[in-house]
Amino acid sequence: MQETNVQKLIRFIRKSPTSFHAIDAIKQALKDFTPLQERERWALAPGGKYYVTRNGSSLIAFTLPAGPLSSFQLIASHSDSPTFKIKENAEVIVRDKYVQLDTERYGGMIMSSWFDRPLSVAGRALVRDGQGVRAVLVDLDRDMALIPNVAIHMNRDVNNGYKYNPAVDTFPLWGTQAAKGTFRAQIAQAAGVKEEDLLGADLFLYNRMEGRVWGVGEEFVSAPRLDDLECAFSSVEALLSAQGGDHANVCCVFDNEEVGSTTKQGADSSFLADVLRRILLSLGKTEEDYYTALAGSFMLSADNAHAVHPNHPEYSDGLNQTVMNGGIVIKFNANQKYTTDGVSEAVFHHICEKAQVPVQHYANRSDMPGGGTLGNISGSHVSVNTLDIGLAQLAMHSCYETAGAQDVDYMIAGMKAFYETEIRCAADGRYTLT
Ligand code: ZN
Repeated sequence: MQETNVQKLIRFIRKSPTSFHAIDAIKQALKDFTPLQERERWALAPGGKYYVTRNGSSLIAFTLPAGPLSSFQLIASHSDSPTFKIKENAEVIVRDKYVQLDTERYGGMIMSSWFDRPLSVAGRALVRDGQGVRAVLVDLDRDMALIPNVAIHMNRDVNNGYKYNPAVDTFPLWGTQAAKGTFRAQIAQAAGVKEEDLLGADLFLYNRMEGRVWGVGEEFVSAPRLDDLECAFSSVEALLSAQGGDHANVCCVFDNEEVGSTTKQGADSSFLADVLRRILLSLGKTEEDYYTALAGSFMLSADNAHAVHPNHPEYSDGLNQTVMNGGIVIKFNANQKYTTDGVSEAVFHHICEKAQVPVQHYANRSDMPGGGTLGNISGSHVSVNTLDIGLAQLAMHSCYETAGAQDVDYMIAGMKAFYETEIRCAADGRYTLT
């Protein structure tokens, strides 16, 4: 039986416990693409397919037109999700009875969702390599840790709104006293080196629970990290299947969205601008060509959106609320935390209508601020017409989130149609779409 898109998504998420692993899984999917190194000169050929990574946790892949390049059509999503980062001195000994891991929060998670479930540790280890160092992906890939709740008999108030302290309540249990000194050894073993050759690491907890499709009509998918691996996965699938035109199709997956994007590999870095400029320079174009290409370019900033909550529909706007399996969500915000405006909405609406992909509109309830995302941040470096889209989901930033199973098909189809449409800007507010 052929694997459905949602099953494929679940498999991708399983392979992607951290942003480093997500980028590695995307590289494996881009097997017909030529890898580029930022520190080397690029010699790109028309019609070529390439990708480049930064820090091993952000990636930009692109396909070039066979003829002259007119513009860029870009989709951006993010590879990271809220989690707990493990500190360098990791082992905390509790009354000579237990070993815990010393952690701090990465991003804004729903802390309670991390309790009473098997967890493991994954990330990147830096190991000694002759005279230098080299990065190795590590995944302990076993049920290795758990954050236990306090019994209700010891905390009678737990159901009345408990304030979790990340320096006390969320340290995961790693073992009994006998486990002392084993954490580094486990990481070194997973990296395939001796403990003394483990020189650095970026390690995170992850939820071991597998993604699954459920519901009387199999209408839902629940999995860790749906925000934003669902959009990252969809954009890669769309890039792989789209037929090219006169523009370059570009697929960006940025790390560190959950902590503000301000790292060297985040959306608030020079990464995208550097890559777009180098594409044109490598094709023998000039600085002027870069600006004319950008002026005709278009971007989808893809990050999941909030579905109306069954227990709390009042948290959503009365009209601009979205449902799971209702199609691609176009997000609006008067203060431009989302980049969508009338022009970008109209262009994308037109594309989705032609591709028979349903769209729905989202705006926060007017007295609730909501969160920002990639589009406006990346737009400050590469200013192109952009709109913010996503798929409707529940429990955003829980370690197990829920979305619509059918929506994965809609997102891939909508993104593919976007990549395959020739978006030509004739004047401000005037476009042809062929
Ligand atoms: Zn997100």
